[in-house]
Amino acid sequence: MSTWKLQFEIASIVLISANIILFYTCNRIETKLSLIFQHLMWIVLATSIFDIIAACVLNNPSKISIVLGYLFTILYNLGLILVIWLYVLYFIHLTMTDYKIQQYGLRRLSVPVIVEIILFCTTPLTHFIFYIDSEGVYHRGIGMGQWYFIGALYVLHVSFIALKKSKEMSKMQRTALGLWTVSIIACAFFQLVFPQYLLNSFGNAIGTILIYIALQGDFVDSDRMLGTYSNDALAKKISVSLSNNVKFQIVTVRLGGFEKINAVQGYEVADDVLRQIAEFLMKLIPRHQVFHLTGLYFACYLETGVEGAKEYVKKIEQRFETKFYSKMAKNAIDVPYGIALIGFPNQADSARKYSSLLNTVLTEPTLANNRKIIYLSEEDIDRYDRKIEVERAIERAVRNGTFKVYYQPIIDLETQKVHCAEALIRLQDEEYGYIYPDEFIPLAEENGEITQITNFVLNSVCRFYVDKKIEEKGVSFIEVNLSAVECVQQDTANRILSILNGYNIDNKNINLEITETAAVGRNAQVNLNIDSLTNAGVTLSLDDYGTGYSNMSQLLELPLEIAKVDKSMLWTAMKNDDAMCVLKKMTELLHSLGRKIVVEGVETREHVELLRKLGVQYAQGYCFSKPIPEEEFVEYLINVNEYGMSPYGDDL
Ligand code: C2E
Ligand code: CA
Ligand code: CA
Repeated sequence: MSTWKLQFEIASIVLISANIILFYTCNRIETKLSLIFQHLMWIVLATSIFDIIAACVLNNPSKISIVLGYLFTILYNLGLILVIWLYVLYFIHLTMTDYKIQQYGLRRLSVPVIVEIILFCTTPLTHFIFYIDSEGVYHRGIGMGQWYFIGALYVLHVSFIALKKSKEMSKMQRTALGLWTVSIIACAFFQLVFPQYLLNSFGNAIGTILIYIALQGDFVDSDRMLGTYSNDALAKKISVSLSNNVKFQIVTVRLGGFEKINAVQGYEVADDVLRQIAEFLMKLIPRHQVFHLTGLYFACYLETGVEGAKEYVKKIEQRFETKFYSKMAKNAIDVPYGIALIGFPNQADSARKYSSLLNTVLTEPTLANNRKIIYLSEEDIDRYDRKIEVERAIERAVRNGTFKVYYQPIIDLETQKVHCAEALIRLQDEEYGYIYPDEFIPLAEENGEITQITNFVLNSVCRFYVDKKIEEKGVSFIEVNLSAVECVQQDTANRILSILNGYNIDNKNINLEITETAAVGRNAQVNLNIDSLTNAGVTLSLDDYGTGYSNMSQLLELPLEIAKVDKSMLWTAMKNDDAMCVLKKMTELLHSLGRKIVVEGVETREHVELLRKLGVQYAQGYCFSKPIPEEEFVEYLINVNEYGMSPYGDDL
């Protein structure tokens, strides 16, 4: 009669208990993986306990010990089967998406497990896998080998998945899997060779701990500095809750002024205030579900309706309206803040959308302007969705070079000929249709793609001007819009000049339209750009004249050849005597200073009459032509400038 040696089982209980304690002491977002892992740990623990009990009963043979021996040996073995099964589940969930798992056929994969469970449960009758004789002695049955074989097949199966997916797995995940396989196989092997040592559970405990250590990042979601949940944890939380169809709100707090606190009071004070804020939020929010995002954002996760969440917003607001104190600081500290409430899944339906919504609503300027509490409206969301669409369209057009440049003639009212033209960009997207420049230019300015757009327009204009011999047809320059954002950028002048350099074109053939806001910034960089451009012979126009609030004398200091009077000035002058008076005085002043005047938005013969009365020489507008594609523009140009036809659209 063999006596069971319990040392390894006891060691395995100690190890797995330590693992369980570690696991439950950290902040964690419950995912499918972490749930499987929890079951795994508990079953490994239970298995060891059953094994010890079974061994103890069998070490002391008696009548009841046979029944108990059967019971606990079966429980122990069922535990082993479940452990193997959970390992398989764990690695499948680790390496596959939910959709893939559905397709994968977990049911088929669980058939051998079910068969084994039946075999074990019936073994007291069949003695197939093991039996306990009337003396209370344990014997292996003829079926024991097949169970080892099935177990080995599962291990092989997991290794096979891992090999197939090894490229998508992290180094840590591969290591964990490798170590797990080795420890399980080694223990099973020794168990076969030395049946009296109880090694299987020990192998499981080691394997489980190895997974925990190697994949700890998957289970620990704390922010080390503040004790809140981490940034990555929020994305996990959002996706788990959404996939469980939970409705929730996230109250996001953005802090400001920390640069100042760092600079004036020091890092320790800044960290202390940050910690106080984290503590305040964790106390306030149920189950402490506070996440410290990158930068100075805190997200509070609430499974409440909008009204419930607003209560929390109010409490947070109240706290921030009073100052913070730090022992290390000499005075009380005011922390600028902004709070936004975003509802899931109706307003945001992914972590990505949440963070881009935040980027649009909780910005530095928001904090600066004291717009403290932001409740997103339907329009905010629609605006945001549209913004994403337009940004995608811009990105596509930049990538594929599918913008078009249209030309709108500017007519010399004295000669009735085309004097020059304005290049205007057009965006026709395959998915979202026609998008107006008034909509996409501001977005392109925001995300920096405006430089590529300007490059595109300049290149198209130069190529067109040279190829179609536009100068010979009486158009001595084309006007190209330069955005205000570019005016303050350091390399703008050089960039533009080097594009012009690539064509057989004179710099004076290009005129750049800049807006009042850009020109009057009087920023040193703007002046440098303007000087380099004008020194190189590029001329400038002042666009949208009359819409800004700039001081006339400031404007007149700039080397601007042409003032383009905005259409709104013309249109209001037609309706209103005071506005007419302003327009009149303005044109007189500009003329006396030797500036050329182009009036935009000239739509009717009455508009033209008015301009003639005011002595304005150049006009641009639908009365002559809308912006048109290259070929149409060339045709118009030839008709008007070479064949002497009327420039008026309705006459052509
Ligand atoms: P803008 O520079 O003031 O351009 C004149 C706008 O007035 C053009 O609109 C033009 O089609 C429109 N327009 C011309 N005549 C008339 C008229 O008689 N009646 C009316 N109702 N409108 C008239 P568009 O092409 O939609 O461009 C809008 C704005 O988008 C431009 O205003 C400009 O600020 C910007 N933009 C257009 N193309 C470019 C570009 O290539 N680069 C940059 N940075 N901005 C551009
Ligand atoms: Ca313009
Ligand atoms: Ca304009």
